[in-house]
Amino acid sequence: MFDISTIRKDFPILDSQVYGKPLVYLDNGATTQKPKCVLDKLNDCYLHHNANVHRGVHFLSQDATDLHEASRRTVQKFINASSSDEIIFTRGTTESINLVAYSFSETFLREGDEVIVSDMEHHSNIVSWQLVQRRKGIVIKHARITENQELDFEHFKSLFTERTKLVSITHVSNVLGTINPVEEIVAYAHSRNVPVLIDGAQSTPHIRVDVQALDVDFLVFSGHKIYGPTGVGVLYGKRKWLEQMIPYQGGGEMIQSVSFENTTFNELPYKFEAGTPDFIGTVGLASALDYVTSIGLDSIAAYETQLLQYATDKFKSIPGMQIYGNASDKSAVLSFLVEGIHHYDMGLLLDKMGIAVRTGHHCAQPLMQVLGIEGTVRASFSFYNTFEEVDSLVAGIQRVCKMFGV
Ligand code: PLP
Repeated sequence: MFDISTIRKDFPILDSQVYGKPLVYLDNGATTQKPKCVLDKLNDCYLHHNANVHRGVHFLSQDATDLHEASRRTVQKFINASSSDEIIFTRGTTESINLVAYSFSETFLREGDEVIVSDMEHHSNIVSWQLVQRRKGIVIKHARITENQELDFEHFKSLFTERTKLVSITHVSNVLGTINPVEEIVAYAHSRNVPVLIDGAQSTPHIRVDVQALDVDFLVFSGHKIYGPTGVGVLYGKRKWLEQMIPYQGGGEMIQSVSFENTTFNELPYKFEAGTPDFIGTVGLASALDYVTSIGLDSIAAYETQLLQYATDKFKSIPGMQIYGNASDKSAVLSFLVEGIHHYDMGLLLDKMGIAVRTGHHCAQPLMQVLGIEGTVRASFSFYNTFEEVDSLVAGIQRVCKMFGV
């Protein structure tokens, strides 16, 4: 598939020591580490190509603009959008969802209209809609999960009414790892004439996502979760929606002309990109996508599935271990609790062994309520993680269990 030791050399931070122990970084769901080629690209941009985009006649500005627009085409290719005009650069998944929540609802939603989410959403895909609820009086419906922590598709379907105007749902749960059946979700929603937004924050780094094959209306994701820089993300939207939606913010490149009497807006994608974009970040993101493509998402998915299987099997031999997220189709995320040990204690003690995991509610408090717990410990894997690191995690958990006498 690929040579893991060569891959790891691309990520200098993975060689770090914490508390004198080798770093075992298993918090990839929160953010991923950056390959050297991305860091070099960012440096190169600041050193040789830095000037504000779009507005300058001078060489450097045009150079920066060319790089920024080439990055848009890289994103287009990565998710197989039909046009780069449908690629809007944002600060990340959260901003992308907020953009759609604001601009789509201003154009299409009236009091009493309904948006369907699920019980496994990240707060970004709940609170953005609650802000619309406060402003416009929309209704938010949430699809349940089954005992295996999969989407309850029958319940999901039962939520549709004449007032349903949008489905906004995660592709992969950041807590459970559950991969939702987005093909079926989109097909069903479209059969009811309802567009679909897919939160791809946790899917795009691990699974091939083709917006045309899925026929999805909106896809959002973050650069920093896909080996790119922080502060840059993507909103893909079908032209037919984006063209009708009003701008999200005012200023900068989003205008065509401005007067006190009548301001008109720029064409896509600029209509949604107010202010100076993170034009260096977008080039870094493109470099990250090229890197991921060079390894191959199919190889990445296959390797990460092996890691997940290996870790899951080992976890099952730990007494008192409860895994949250038992879907048949699952991404490489392992959320767990060990009976008698608070998730926070587990996280702190693993940290002292050099093992970075996440603890808490993972910005999914409604899901925690459904599961009847306060939080979990979450190990989330990347293609640069090794089977030996899984062994270290398991040994670390066993040590903590011993300390607690469980
Ligand atoms: N949606 C999901 C499923 C996530 O996992 C996250 C981050 O963890 C977000 C949205 C928010 O992403 P960001 O903080 O990059 O905007």
